Amino acid sequence: MELYLDANATEPLRPEAREAALRAMDLAGNPSSVHGAGRAARRVLEAAREAVAACCGASAGDVVFTAGGTEANALAVRGLAAGRRVLVGATEHPAVLAAAPGAEALPVLADGTLDLAALARALDGPPALVCLMAANNETGVLHPIAQAAALCREAGALLHVDAVQAAGRVPLGLGNADSLALSGHKMGGPKGAGALLLRPGLTLAPLIAGGGQERGRRGGTEPLPAIAGMAAAASAALPEAATRLAPIRDAIEAACVAQGALVAGAGTPRLPNTTSLVLPGVPAETQVISLDLAGVRVSAGAACSSGKVARSHVLTAMGLGDLAGCAIRVSLPWNTPADAAERFVAAWGAMRAKLARGGAAS
Ligand code: PLP
Repeated sequence: MELYLDANATEPLRPEAREAALRAMDLAGNPSSVHGAGRAARRVLEAAREAVAACCGASAGDVVFTAGGTEANALAVRGLAAGRRVLVGATEHPAVLAAAPGAEALPVLADGTLDLAALARALDGPPALVCLMAANNETGVLHPIAQAAALCREAGALLHVDAVQAAGRVPLGLGNADSLALSGHKMGGPKGAGALLLRPGLTLAPLIAGGGQERGRRGGTEPLPAIAGMAAAASAALPEAATRLAPIRDAIEAACVAQGALVAGAGTPRLPNTTSLVLPGVPAETQVISLDLAGVRVSAGAACSSGKVARSHVLTAMGLGDLAGCAIRVSLPWNTPADAAERFVAAWGAMRAKLARGGAAS
């Protein structure tokens, strides 16, 4: 039977999200239409906005719906950058890196967390926009967002937080940040919706102009089914529930480390569902294919859209050298079965034994 352990790529759809999306799909109206059908759709949209705002302590009027996390990040990075230097964490997701070509990279420490001293030094200059993820998608490492936000405040810099992986897994709020990006499908909603949450009063330039939707901040008819599903998922994805995944993750790590694996970011606060397991000498791609053939779905540290595996820029920034090409990401979904650790460790141990005997990935 398949064992799906690739939640950081996408979470399985939550039943509440499916229900909400299906209900919204039957609404004929456009939320911008003034007639009754439009108003009915608008009510669903605004209820979703309230729910998404509530999960991060924002107010509904400061939620801009987008088509996903990539767009929410791009909207923040491009929409807030005018007249500012852009500083990005070295381990940011390509969604942020690609939106800020030429940005200055902020180094991380060996444990994967942002080097706060380097941030403080980098902030000493003209006004900046700092982009930092709350949790890393490959290692699950949690960055010191509150401290970074305090430094940014003091220096008059804006802080954008990519909270795509942290939402629903660890307690999260806008806090002292200026904007926060979310993705529906990473919380168990349907693919196709995301949101950017803004500090009250913050204005930004839209990426997509159009019919004035989202208060002029994102043109285009809102994808209501995906948004309604995202809101239901955001309400259902509770960090308290995600803590149940940590012992399963820890059991996987303990068993694999006992057999020669390393864990990137071990000993640092991390998401409860994520581990980055390094098997020295074995390319990530080989491991992913071998486990896939055994029905275990994990991913390499970084997979490009072509499906090819590139050496992880995250692990490289953490100083792992050649080991950066030998890591797989195991990320437990909200519906992880109780026996997942035993099943994963059995498959991983069999793969390791086979590779040690010189077998190919089969
Ligand atoms: N930011 C992080 C940290 C991610 O892990 C991802 C997706 O993997 C994204 C942004 C992009 O989100 P989406 O897939 O919704 O575009």
